[in-house]
Amino acid sequence: MRAFSYHRAATPAAAIAAAGSTTAYVAGGTTLIDLVKLDVLRPARLIDVNGAGSAAITARADGGLRVGALVRNSDLARHPLVREKYPVLAEAILSGASPQLRNMATTGGNLMQRTRCTYYRDGISPCNKREPGSGCAAWEGIHRSHAVLGGSEACIATHPSDMCVALAALAATISLQGRAGRRTLPFDAFHLLPGATPEKEHALLPGELITAVTLPAPAKGERSWYLKLRDRESYEFALASAAVVLRLQGRRIASCRIALGGVGTKPWRAHEAEAVLTGAVPAEALFRHAAEAALQSARPRPGNAFKVELARRVLVRVLALLVEGQPSVRQI
Ligand code: SF4
Repeated sequence: MRAFSYHRAATPAAAIAAAGSTTAYVAGGTTLIDLVKLDVLRPARLIDVNGAGSAAITARADGGLRVGALVRNSDLARHPLVREKYPVLAEAILSGASPQLRNMATTGGNLMQRTRCTYYRDGISPCNKREPGSGCAAWEGIHRSHAVLGGSEACIATHPSDMCVALAALAATISLQGRAGRRTLPFDAFHLLPGATPEKEHALLPGELITAVTLPAPAKGERSWYLKLRDRESYEFALASAAVVLRLQGRRIASCRIALGGVGTKPWRAHEAEAVLTGAVPAEALFRHAAEAALQSARPRPGNAFKVELARRVLVRVLALLVEGQPSVRQI
């Protein structure tokens, strides 16, 4: 592990003023410190932002919820308003990591999670994300856990977050603060596709800090759920997952938003499936049609082709569950 200096910022403005090309913000540190220890990330200076932002969850006048960037994942998952109005988010968070990690990990940090691609993390394999231009060891290597949606020949790393899949389905908004002031981004615009520059993972400007995530007010009668399939029941990343926010009106699906996890290079909003479902009468065949649409642009490699059908099935399952009723968020 290389030496670095440590600076504690008292305000967002102080953190932003201290940021530079060789600095990194740290809050919970559940990804960053791992990668520093592995010598994958080499910041010369860490800027601790734990005292430089909000850890509050605030009900908004419009019925939505503002979540400070420093809210711990555990606190967000157990908050009564989240469990009542956004079950998809509570369930997604509780599907991820371990209780100890959720107690440390923050909302802003979760958005910044790095891939679990083993070639990225080993520090020595060719990896365009870690060392641009060096190649992608996963392309011809072991890529069972890699992405089937949104990849390029430069990178097929899967985005690892569960929480972000729920936030994509909820159409959350991200608040940012930087040298040029404050701005907001729709959730879908935050994470970038790898294209030819997989080292660039998000739309943050240099020094910009995530300050909050805002959830829109749920529509009357809205139901939502998250289901994750993985190799073991706890402390494991998704092979495929689906987050669905759905509203029925009479016999028809009045609206729905869908995001997939474990299969995309970013939290994957499935607009094609949403178009199939909206206005239609729920039925097994319709769900299957929507799932086919959600995966129509999949480009699997030989080792991860099974994920295409797995993702279809997890989406069909969540849709069927929600049409039956609102599942209950697990107790913690
Ligand atoms: Fe690196 Fe991406 Fe290839 Fe993994 S998939 S080795 S992160 S370039």
